[in-house]
Amino acid sequence: MPQTSSTVNPFETAKRQVDIVADMIGLNGGVREVLKHPKRELTVNFPVRMDDGTYRVFTGHRVQYNMARGPCKGGIRYHPQVTLDEVRALAAWMTWKCAVVNIPYGGAKGGVVCDPKKMSKGELEHLTRRYASEIASFIGPEIDIPAPDVYTDSQTMSWIMDTYSMQKGYSVPGVVTGKPIALGGSEGRGEATGRGCAYVIREASKDAGVRVKNGTVAVQGFGNAGSVAANLLHDEQGATIVAVSDSRGGIYKADGLNPHAVEEHKRKTGSVVGFPGAKAISNEEVLETKADILVPAALENQITGKNADKVQAKMVAEAANGPTLPEADTVLFQKKVTVLPDILANAGGVTVSYFEWAQDIQGFFWPLEEVNQRLERVMVRSYADVHKVAAERKVHNRTAAYILAIQRVVDAINTRGFHP
Ligand code: NAD
Repeated sequence: MPQTSSTVNPFETAKRQVDIVADMIGLNGGVREVLKHPKRELTVNFPVRMDDGTYRVFTGHRVQYNMARGPCKGGIRYHPQVTLDEVRALAAWMTWKCAVVNIPYGGAKGGVVCDPKKMSKGELEHLTRRYASEIASFIGPEIDIPAPDVYTDSQTMSWIMDTYSMQKGYSVPGVVTGKPIALGGSEGRGEATGRGCAYVIREASKDAGVRVKNGTVAVQGFGNAGSVAANLLHDEQGATIVAVSDSRGGIYKADGLNPHAVEEHKRKTGSVVGFPGAKAISNEEVLETKADILVPAALENQITGKNADKVQAKMVAEAANGPTLPEADTVLFQKKVTVLPDILANAGGVTVSYFEWAQDIQGFFWPLEEVNQRLERVMVRSYADVHKVAAERKVHNRTAAYILAIQRVVDAINTRGFHP
């Protein structure tokens, strides 16, 4: 069967990525095998009472991929198509992402097979609290710290924090991140992913010779990550936002959209589509827009072998996870497009999650300016680290980011040694 994006097993992809980098850095034997295996996995099947009084059994997973560099970190996803292999792959990618930005974490991920769009708030609370109880002995501020992911949010994290705290008998805010400020969340967490992405674009544009000031930008997916990146590129770096889109379609304006006005329009109408004075375009056209910088900030598998050749941007900054397929990477590389890979470009989110955890365990909270300054420092340093590896090894940024991350994890494994 030909492999399409929907039939590719993501964990096979994740393991293949390890093998490619392991070959490049001459890594063999036991450590290579360690990198291709999750450290621990827990699958739980648990009943939830639904609003009509019946009980349904749900399946959830939590995978702790590698904790050589510190406690595991990664989101929890609620989706009908969650599989153990998907959770394993996402946990591996979290391991590399935390290592690229050099925060003291390993990687983890969780998922519950459910359709949250068809569940009431009460049912979601019951499901979340029971799942949290089932994995409670597996997580904790020193072990594994969950966060929101697809179809989970700050409310989900609040329920997990409360359930875990009830079992302990005292409040443990550091067990999850992405909480509301009232429960120990961090200033700046909401916009951290888009902000981190804007910092990486700023730094990379200097090396790549791509204009940001008076340059043009297209953003696919005007949600949390995409809208914040657009606002900051426009307000702080003087870029012209020429195209944006969401799940209903895209809009284009050659002389520039005001991203704040588009955001307001989306808040009122539910979509960017229909924004006054803009031309309607399709989501595919957003990717192919003539612009200096393209920010995919929606879903995975958007830039493929079929459309990569039509990408006109000189820089692609992956705010989304996995927007570019490997065959598209090759095409972009040949076209000399600067790709800022997801594990670097969207790592601002996990970085401020790390700040949230650090503030929670100290019980000492930082003002917004301090959070943003520290985030900027991490993103600037991380981009420089990736760029250095790319230049030294003459590889593109994605490969460089993987080499850097995997080498850091390998160093931690080797330095700790093998028990017993
Ligand atoms: P979000 O739900 O706030 O926004 C997603 C946006 O994409 C929405 O506007 C949605 O309408 C749009 N969209 C959906 N399908 C689309 C399509 N086919 N074409 C164009 N637009 C489409 O989600 P988010 O938190 O901004 O996450 C976006 C991406 O960024 C995801 O890949 C996510 O994994 C990644 N990411 C987010 C964070 C974070 O902290 N929010 C951190 C790391 C990575």
